Amino acid sequence: MRNARGTIIRPDPLPDSASRPVVTPLSPSVVYASDTPDMLDAQYEGRLQGYTYAREGHPNADVVAARLDAMEGATGGVVTGSGMAAVAAVLMGLPKAGDHVIGGNQLYGRSMRLMAEDLPRFGVATTLADPGDVAAVRAALRPETRLLLVEVVSNPSLRVADIDGLAALCREAGVLLAVDNTFTTPRGIRPFDHGADIVIHSLTKLLAGHSDATLGYAVAREPALTERIRAFAVTAGLTPSPFDCWLAERGMLSFELRHDRAQATAAVLADHLAGVAGVKRVLYPMRADHPDHARAAALLAGRGGNMVSFELDSGRAAANAFARAAEGLSFAPTLGDVGTTISHPASSSHRALSDADRVTLGLSEGFFRISVGLEDPDALCGVFSRAIETATA
Ligand SMILES: *Cc1c(COP(=O)(O)O)cnc(C)c1O
Repeated sequence: MRNARGTIIRPDPLPDSASRPVVTPLSPSVVYASDTPDMLDAQYEGRLQGYTYAREGHPNADVVAARLDAMEGATGGVVTGSGMAAVAAVLMGLPKAGDHVIGGNQLYGRSMRLMAEDLPRFGVATTLADPGDVAAVRAALRPETRLLLVEVVSNPSLRVADIDGLAALCREAGVLLAVDNTFTTPRGIRPFDHGADIVIHSLTKLLAGHSDATLGYAVAREPALTERIRAFAVTAGLTPSPFDCWLAERGMLSFELRHDRAQATAAVLADHLAGVAGVKRVLYPMRADHPDHARAAALLAGRGGNMVSFELDSGRAAANAFARAAEGLSFAPTLGDVGTTISHPASSSHRALSDADRVTLGLSEGFFRISVGLEDPDALCGVFSRAIETATA
């Protein structure tokens, strides 16, 4: 248990190298040694940059944060151990008891749960409203409303929020607008350019992109707000793993290429599915028949993203047959992977809803959501055609 030079267990320095690594080193170190108490003072007082304890921050997280900051036009973003950790850090780090928070009525399931179950336990009242309808959100406002959390494109019905209208309303009412940009990514929209105050991501999805790292990110336009989000994240231990950050950085290097390829294929697949017998409807924001097409075209500047939803004109038996027949596609409730995945909201993400609520959202037993990956577009269209034909024969 001794180091190479004698009796002290830690540490020997790394061997010298005049040349530098081209890949970010992985730094799993939990603790960082400073030279003196004076040096620690300087670090804690911000006069000297230096890490102390990994829960408070570490180099691999900061590398990921800087990359995402640049993509979102932000500074000083906080990387967290999951997307939900980022949502929680915003929703629990900013409002106080007595405040009111409004959420989009089709938020990610766990965000919804945080709004419905957890914030009220801490004395924060919550209301859900349709983010596509500014008048509905206006009607939900109260004098004590502090924050509005929305997603740009809803899961899985791919409805598009009126971000510009909501930003104007929030400005007028003195309410913080937080946008979960996971689905759309900074390639689709940069919420700060549209007046958002806070941006949230699950990096687990498209940004890291390989279904092997669970991470999140949150940043506010106002540095003092970001510091409150960071303080809560550090206190609650919402810390990201250095290894996950290292994997995510590697994934982010190819994010733009992956995104654009998947998006181009999604547009092709959406049009293809619309012509397949047995498909009742296809949802893709850039299709002219999408209910929010005009808003999507303006807000997302033609970028429809990689998600496509469609509905088979049949029930659970055909849905089972389709999932079985879709050769090689993972039937898995995630999104943004390099491989195409399909999910069935009625049996997974939206299983807790009542039948009536599912009908309202149009989520029948024949409804599937596709996260388009990097496969060859023609081959992918073929897989879907054959599986749908088998399922509905
Ligand atoms: C997946 C997801 C989250 C949660 O992210 P995790 O990394 O799974 O915790 C939050 N918001 C949206 C829109 C998501 O898709």
